[in-house]
Amino acid sequence: MQQASARYVSTRGAAPAADFAEALLRGMAPDGGLYMPVSWPTLTPDAWAPGPAYAEMARSAMTPFIGPALPAGALDRALDHLIAGFAPPEITPLRRLEDGLYLLELFHGPTAAFKDLAMQLAASLSAEALAVSGERLTLVTATSGDTGAAAVAAFANRPRIRLIVLHPHERVSPVQRRQMTTVEADNVLNLAVRGDFDDCQRLVKGLLADETLRASGRFSSVNSINWARLAGQIPYYLSAVSQLAAQGETRPPVFVVPTGNFGDAFAGIAASKMGLLTRGLVAAVNANDALARAINEGVYARRAAVETASVSMDVQAPSNFERLVYEASGRDADLTRGLFADFARDGRVVLPDELLTALRREVSAVSVDEAMTRSEIAHAHSVWDQVVCPHTAVALSAARAIDRAVGPVVALATAHPAKFGKDVAPVVGFDPDPPEVIRALGNRAERFKVIAADAAEALAAVRAFQG
Ligand SMILES: *Cc1c(COP(=O)(O)O)cnc(C)c1O
Repeated sequence: MQQASARYVSTRGAAPAADFAEALLRGMAPDGGLYMPVSWPTLTPDAWAPGPAYAEMARSAMTPFIGPALPAGALDRALDHLIAGFAPPEITPLRRLEDGLYLLELFHGPTAAFKDLAMQLAASLSAEALAVSGERLTLVTATSGDTGAAAVAAFANRPRIRLIVLHPHERVSPVQRRQMTTVEADNVLNLAVRGDFDDCQRLVKGLLADETLRASGRFSSVNSINWARLAGQIPYYLSAVSQLAAQGETRPPVFVVPTGNFGDAFAGIAASKMGLLTRGLVAAVNANDALARAINEGVYARRAAVETASVSMDVQAPSNFERLVYEASGRDADLTRGLFADFARDGRVVLPDELLTALRREVSAVSVDEAMTRSEIAHAHSVWDQVVCPHTAVALSAARAIDRAVGPVVALATAHPAKFGKDVAPVVGFDPDPPEVIRALGNRAERFKVIAADAAEALAAVRAFQG
């Protein structure tokens, strides 16, 4: 009998159950919901005891979610590949800043942002699933920078997979653009859209809805609603607790997560459902504060997104909020479907009292504005001699407000500051030193095609690429 944790149901309750491979290759469930494991596997505390290597922790955290859906050894091969792309042996080193305050550094991978950790695994596991089924997969994604870079690095030259990335022309940082466009891979198409990120997202939605593109195989997206990406983010929460213990700190931590689509944070919730003891989880958002207002005021409402320095968190309707609602409501698919249908129609829903109480048991949320973000970058530099990216600064600002007398606080550091030099340099007075993966981009030739923010042009470009 297959373990329930390796079977997936939709948060909207109207899709057939799927195995891991199906949830991975589909991304979104066919009823418009998000896949969730039927139940949470439980781990024993030796899964985060001091000592084990990252791969070992990832193996215990992820094996129960995969079950028999992939060939034997698929996860081990995926982990070998992941580990090979990271510099430090801890993979996600925990850095002590001062008494009780720690940074979990998630940016030592191929594109210097935390999305590598899950994207690399998702790419390997997708290739394994396709080798079994014999299918082809075309992935399409809109990006404001980090997702596209991580996706290109992860999916380049994978057999049976094509990747199409749409970024807003001349609106991503030069480092992020070069990370996407200098990779030599015939299975990757970069489209630079004359427009903004919202235009890119609109074009991707249109492409995903176009039935003719499905003729040559599966057609899906690589965004953070994919269950495999969430599962790939659970191991570093174990790693943090393991490293705390190795440093003599055995009290459960509070995790503070810089949050956009709530994928990173939901992985932390999953880890605690699986038995990891924490003192709570704080989602730190920037001025785009729909999530914080939902949790703190009980009204989930869409507003126009504003541009901030922590650009990868400029999200107005965090997609994984749906998973949180589903879980907090006691897995009530009817409630979840109704709530998100209302939100899609009205752009605003009042959260029922009982749900709100349950949501607050899972997570608290804090919004950090631009001035606080800048002053946190300055504080980290002057007090700890640490240069941090704006996303990390948002988390640190929230983290420093938490009482550390009763236990440690761990802020997640999601990107290398050199990726966001434009916002960091004016505060610290110099350009952050780039890591080797950024230096190596050098002045390699770039490959991308500029298109108008026009559905017909996007479709034509994709058709030509699919051949
Ligand atoms: C994507 C991203 C985030 C937000 O993660 P979510 O899972 O969308 O909440 C935070 N920081 C950086 C650097 C990112 O790239």
